[in-house]
Amino acid sequence: MNLNIVYLETLLIILIYLTKFAHFMKPIMDQEQLENLSDSDRNLSNAGDTPMRADAFDMPDDQKIKIIEEKFSEIMFTLGLDLTDDSLKGTPKRVAKMFVKEIFGGLDPKKAPTSSDFENKYNYSEMLVEKDITVYSTCEHHFLPIVGKAHVAYFSNGHVIGLSKMNRIVDYYAKRPQVQERMTMQIVKHLQKYLGTDDVACVIDAKHLCVNSRGIRDIQSSTVTSEFGGRFKDAAVKQEFLDYILMKLDQ
Ligand SMILES: [Zn+2]
Repeated sequence: MNLNIVYLETLLIILIYLTKFAHFMKPIMDQEQLENLSDSDRNLSNAGDTPMRADAFDMPDDQKIKIIEEKFSEIMFTLGLDLTDDSLKGTPKRVAKMFVKEIFGGLDPKKAPTSSDFENKYNYSEMLVEKDITVYSTCEHHFLPIVGKAHVAYFSNGHVIGLSKMNRIVDYYAKRPQVQERMTMQIVKHLQKYLGTDDVACVIDAKHLCVNSRGIRDIQSSTVTSEFGGRFKDAAVKQEFLDYILMKLDQ
């Protein structure tokens, strides 16, 4: 065997290892790189936020609807569908309006429920649970529905909010392309901010149609996610909340 080739091969292997090692030695990102990150990069790095571009709302809704209508026509055309058919010709516009105005309407921070809270004049200091809040969301990996129930609870520190406001907060975060884990955390964070307390919890039990109707096609399975803040981290408090969720009125 030619010794020169063996020598070159060995040198090459050492070089490859050194390159890999050097990669681990380097900090992932230096301060300058961090400062130069765009807003969307920052959002992507924060798992709690929906990853949005900084210019997400520069374009008016009407223009978004027009663009999505055109693109959805292309999708349908590519699938081989006849867009002159009476039943299909209105679909691209219908889908575009539904995306922007309805099922993804919660991307727009202007639609966030406001904090019209009022004082806790009854001095109610026990746990308040709003359970079985219907969740209709959309999986951001497959754009298929997520359907389920959210259960939200808090201890008042002097403020209470209207009960329907909890349903609105759930609905606001559900109306986005979502992952259930993020949605659960977003609901808790929002309530913590508006109630001025860490003592907030949320449990979501939902079916993902991307699991139930395609892929593994498991009709029965559902996904449970939970986020327990403040006093809800205490095992007894957590258990009390879970007991309320399971409690039926006719029992
Ligand atoms: Zn999915």
